[in-house]
This record gives sequence, C-alpha cells and structure tokens, in this order.
Amino acid sequence: MDDAVTTSYRAGSFPYPEDAPASQALFDRARAIVPGGVNSPVRAFRAVGGTPRFMAEGSGAWLTDADGRRYVDLVCSWGPLIHGHAHPEVIAAVQAAAVKGTSFGTPTAGEVELAAEIVARTPIDEVRLVNSGTEATMTAIRLARGFTGRSTIVKFAGCYHGHVDALLVAAGSGVATLGLPDSPGVTGAAAADTIVVPYNDVAAVEAVFAHKNVAAVITEAAAGNMGVVPPRDGFNQRLAEIAHANGALLIVDEVMTGFRVSRQGWQGLDPVDADLYTYGKVMGGGLPAAAFGGRSEIMSRLAPAGPVYQAGTLSGNPLACAAGLASLRLADDAVYKRLDELSATVGALASDALNTAGVPHRLSYAGNMFSIFFTDVDVYDYETARTQDAGAFKAFFHAMLARGVYLPPSAFESWFVSTALDEAALETIAEALPFAARAAAAAMGESR
Ligand code: PLP
Repeated sequence: MDDAVTTSYRAGSFPYPEDAPASQALFDRARAIVPGGVNSPVRAFRAVGGTPRFMAEGSGAWLTDADGRRYVDLVCSWGPLIHGHAHPEVIAAVQAAAVKGTSFGTPTAGEVELAAEIVARTPIDEVRLVNSGTEATMTAIRLARGFTGRSTIVKFAGCYHGHVDALLVAAGSGVATLGLPDSPGVTGAAAADTIVVPYNDVAAVEAVFAHKNVAAVITEAAAGNMGVVPPRDGFNQRLAEIAHANGALLIVDEVMTGFRVSRQGWQGLDPVDADLYTYGKVMGGGLPAAAFGGRSEIMSRLAPAGPVYQAGTLSGNPLACAAGLASLRLADDAVYKRLDELSATVGALASDALNTAGVPHRLSYAGNMFSIFFTDVDVYDYETARTQDAGAFKAFFHAMLARGVYLPPSAFESWFVSTALDEAALETIAEALPFAARAAAAAMGESR
C-alpha cells in the first residue's frame, strides 16, 4: 500500500482523492488492448464516470485496489460471494483440488457432489453443469424449444438472462446501465421469436398467449438486473399456470437469486411450479460455474440421454466444483438469517441517510438483495425503474467510493451483502452514507 494512502487510511481521514493513479495506469494500458478496457461492460464505470478501480485483493468484507485503498464491498462479485472474499474453507477446497490437476475432460466425483447438493436444495430432478449463467439460460431455452417443438419465447423488459442473442432484447444489467439500444449483431432472425412484455404484468402475458403458440416464458425469479424489483405476490405462480394451460414451459432464472436469498434460492421464499431453473453465481463460490435443471422428463431430452445438444470443454471444472461445493456446504440457515439481517441493516442505514438529506428514493428488496431507486415513483417494472435520477446516483456512488464503500457502479443493479460484513465494515458504511446522501441531494438540486 502506498505510504500516504496507508497513513490517511489508518488516520481515518477519508475521503480518498478522486484520482486513482495505479488504477488509471492499468486502465490506460487495458484500453489499448481490451475493448473499453474491461472484460464485462459495467466494470468500466461508464454510467458513473471516473476511473474504474482495478482490484488487487479481497479479504472478508473488504477489497483492496491497485492504489492500496480499501473498500467495503457491497458488490460481492455481482452476487456470488455470500461468505465474503477468500473464505478460508473455500480457498482450502480450491487449493486441495488444484494440486490434483485443474481439468480432466472426464467425469469427476466433484461434479456428482455438486449436482447432488443442488438437486437436494431445489425442486429439480436432474441438473447439467455449465460455465456461466449465459450458457445456462441459452441451453434452457434450447431445451424448452426442443421439448415443446415450438419457437416463441416470452421475456420481460428489464430482465437480463446473460448475453444470449434471443434474450438480449429489452435487457437489463449493463444494457440498461449504458442505455444501449438492442445490440447490433443480434439478427432479426435471432430475436424474431422473442416477445417482450412488461414485468409484473399478467394481462400482457395472457395477451401473448391468446395469439401465439409459446415454447416458454423466462423470468428472473425476482428481477435484479433493473435494480431489484420483486415479483408481485403470486406473479411467478400465475406465469406457471398460464404456461401450463397452454402447453408451454416456465423457465425461472435463479442465476442471481439461487442459493443467495435462501438455501434454495427464490424458490425457498416464493415456491413456484416451474419446469426449468437456471443457476450460477453462488453455486460456483467465485469460480466460473452455472447450471440448469428440471424434471427428468425434460432433462432426459438433453444429449447424450436425448437429442437436444449441449456440451462444454470445461463444464464441471474440478476447481469450480470444489469452490461451489464448499460455498454451498457453508450456506446453512444461520448464514441466510445473517444475510437477511445485514441487508436490512444496510438498507435502513441508507434510507435513513437519504431521508435526512431529503432525497426521494425507493428501497426495494427481494430477500437479501436490495437496491435504492433515486425516484419518488413506486417501482414495479422497467419503465418505473427508469424514472431514476441518474445524476443523484452518480454523486451518491462517488461519495461512497471516496469514503471507502464499493457499490455497484450502476443504478440498475442490486447491492449484495456477505456474512463477512463485520462491525468495522458496517461502521464505514454508516459513516459514508450521510456524506453520500448530501452529495446526492446536491446533485438533484443541480439537475433541476
Ligand atoms: N441470469 C441472470 C438473472 C443474471 O443476473 C445473469 C448475470 O448477471 C445471467 C443470467 C448471466 O450470467 P453470466 O454473467 O454468468 O453469464
């Protein structure tokens, strides 16, 4: 750590200066050889401006950047790290696996163990392991189409299911953050069988089914990629009923919620009779692993048991399975209770600070995932999520960063807590919030 920064950190004399020379140097170098300087768009800080922080290390609740500055991490690698960074049991499991070899291209015992853990926690009979949430949803769609013999997919505006061509229509996450149009490169043909309807709108779904033979409806178990927008009571189950009454399947995307909001995922909080489920993030323990699964009747159509093709060189990678299994085995009821308490604490602290500063906002939860919308409008879909004051969020984000709290650099993403948030981390958040709330209030004033 740079001496001046160390001294300033130890003395508690935040804020950090805006400039971050080591991150800036890395970003400059990266921009010459990596598009936009990053390997996933939202990391680039485009929506909030400034220099993206290049992280060097994570430990428990804390991240350390290339300039040696420490931040309480409320992103947790976009959800996976429910136990915080470098949890000793997860690291030990990865180390033990790594010395035995990193990949075999054959079946291994670890894959069976991870599959068994997932099946034991969820309503699914069979599961296939893949490398990313994108692969999981892409294949779930293919399987639903193969199973039903139909083409049309219904998705919701503001939901993000990875960068699958057919699902990159009116998508949330980075597409929403950057305010992008539908992506060039997605052909009309690839998107032609995707129908987009507003989230939480049952009548709109019924209207599609009235004139289309639908293969599947895909929904985020609880939307987290337009900011956190929970499904209205009974919404997911109603989707299952509509789909089943019409010979279609319901795919519930639990990539973000799965094993984060409860032992099962959103299914544990709001059970639904879906046909296929997708998982990712937490089940990989911070390494690349994801999955999809469902009833045997459907999953048995997948190669080599059936004709619907899917494969992967690194699928079920031994290191990822070891990390995922260790992470899931640690995730007992006490962990979920703690995550709920911590997210309630952090959300309430943020809301109090914003109220004190007179900043209109909506605090929105789905289990222990939450986000703050800088708006005075109730948020229940993508249109209402987009009423946010982007300038206020930007000022809030940078003020938190300057005071040592790393938030998602986007108003359209969830905040994520880990059980590693201890008193020191909570204190840092509590001290930063009033300052950030005042910065947000000032930015709102400016934009009026
Ligand atoms: N589905 C949901 C609900 C997600 O939140 C994401 C990623 O954030 C994905 C799918 C895609 O997962 P991945 O980034 O691992 O491809």
